[in-house]
Amino acid sequence: MDREDDLDVLRAAAAMAIDYAATVDSRPAAPSPEAVAGLAAFDEPLPEAGLPAQATLRLLHDAGSPATMASAGGRYFGFVIGATLPAALGASWLTDAWDQNAALPAMSPVAARLHDVTRGWLLDLLGLPAGCAVTYVTGATMANAACLAAARDELLTRLGWDSQADGLFGAPAFDVVIGEGAHSTVRKSLGLVGLGRSRVHVVPADDQGRMRADALPDDLTGPVLVCAQAGEVNTGAFDPFDEIADWLARRPGPAPGWLHVDGAFGLWALADPTRRDRLAAGLTRADSWATDGHKWLNVTYDCGLAFVRDPAPLRRTFTAAAGYTPAGDTFDAMHHTPQSSQRARQIEVWAALRTLGRAGVADLVARACDAAAEIASRLADGGLTVVNDVVLNQVLVRLEAPSAGLAGTGGRRNLEASGGDEPSGEALTRALIAEIQADGRIWCGPTLWHGQTAMRLSVSSWKTDSDDAAFAADVILTCAARAQARLTSAID
Ligand SMILES: *Cc1c(COP(=O)(O)O)cnc(C)c1O
Repeated sequence: MDREDDLDVLRAAAAMAIDYAATVDSRPAAPSPEAVAGLAAFDEPLPEAGLPAQATLRLLHDAGSPATMASAGGRYFGFVIGATLPAALGASWLTDAWDQNAALPAMSPVAARLHDVTRGWLLDLLGLPAGCAVTYVTGATMANAACLAAARDELLTRLGWDSQADGLFGAPAFDVVIGEGAHSTVRKSLGLVGLGRSRVHVVPADDQGRMRADALPDDLTGPVLVCAQAGEVNTGAFDPFDEIADWLARRPGPAPGWLHVDGAFGLWALADPTRRDRLAAGLTRADSWATDGHKWLNVTYDCGLAFVRDPAPLRRTFTAAAGYTPAGDTFDAMHHTPQSSQRARQIEVWAALRTLGRAGVADLVARACDAAAEIASRLADGGLTVVNDVVLNQVLVRLEAPSAGLAGTGGRRNLEASGGDEPSGEALTRALIAEIQADGRIWCGPTLWHGQTAMRLSVSSWKTDSDDAAFAADVILTCAARAQARLTSAID
């Protein structure tokens, strides 16, 4: 293969990626069953001799692209999944072409400089303390784990124990407090850093999943690690940070504890002045924060960010001493993250922030929240039950029994309730979700909320606008009418 052929491979790949980007908005949000069946094209034995690169990429596009979820578009509302800004996607291509290892400045001066630049921009944009360390990891799960590992070592140091040298066996104990509504990955992270998934004090949550500050335990002695949350994964609700920070500050001892915040998507609310004031009071009083770039900032996978107020514990926890690793005054990513070799995720974040600007990030947040509010109000008008207070980008809905009435898309019309038994709200809500997923024009999934199934919509794509919100509401109401008709006739 000569050099020109190599370049042709890249040109072909770029053309296919552009073709995908050009058509993603007209694709269904979920692939058709035929497209998924078409994945059988990949079921070939490992070739004995290598096959041509262009044909390989062609197979990837022909069989793979149709079997994607169109989460890069504006009509995918499942989980909490962002799309990708064009500048971020383009920066990602260049980053891959550069093939830089961001572990050390000596390995990539450009990655190191853009790390510094994004650190300053992010702390300014989010209003976090100017001295914070900022590190890039694979996602909020690892950002939580990195912050919690640093917190663990710091609290044990205060108790006279060097956990990096001596591990956790025999270490003095300290208490860990989490909210009932903590994301599952917080427990996973606690397990990973040796603090235990179950050895925690669980603070009850209110009806929106917020930690109840009045229920914080009053019988703990010694330092405490508190894991709070900005953006409950179902409702989008924020914990009462001021009250939690006050509780922590009232505790005895010179350095009473560590407050960590999981803000996988919610932390970005800090960039929107109205939501910052309304939701985030006290959020910046924490000691560490975890968030995602790949969700609401709309960069590609995989990009998580950890912010730690005092860089020293982070460095102590993640330093890997080796003869060839210079210990200078530069920021060495490999000495502040669980990784050694690492992707230069800051390059995409830089491109996203530079093209959006302060106002653009605020607008990204505000538009998603507005779309969520619009969907919620259209669904409520159409007879669905909106279960949560829509304070951010998350909407929970249920379809209740037919006697409650349902307005279809063509205006308010009550479907005939069946004579005898009515299908339950539980069965109807599940049928609604199945109907939407089979329809495929938009995509939403189920969640369990207060012991009941609810359909969850997360508006996290930069592309979702008011037209998409209206479209989504129409699809949902049409599917609700279908689900109701189907279940009602099944009972008849
Ligand atoms: C998504 C999410 C996580 C985990 O983030 P990953 O990027 O998937 O690792 C943690 N906490 C909350 C609140 C989330 O929404």
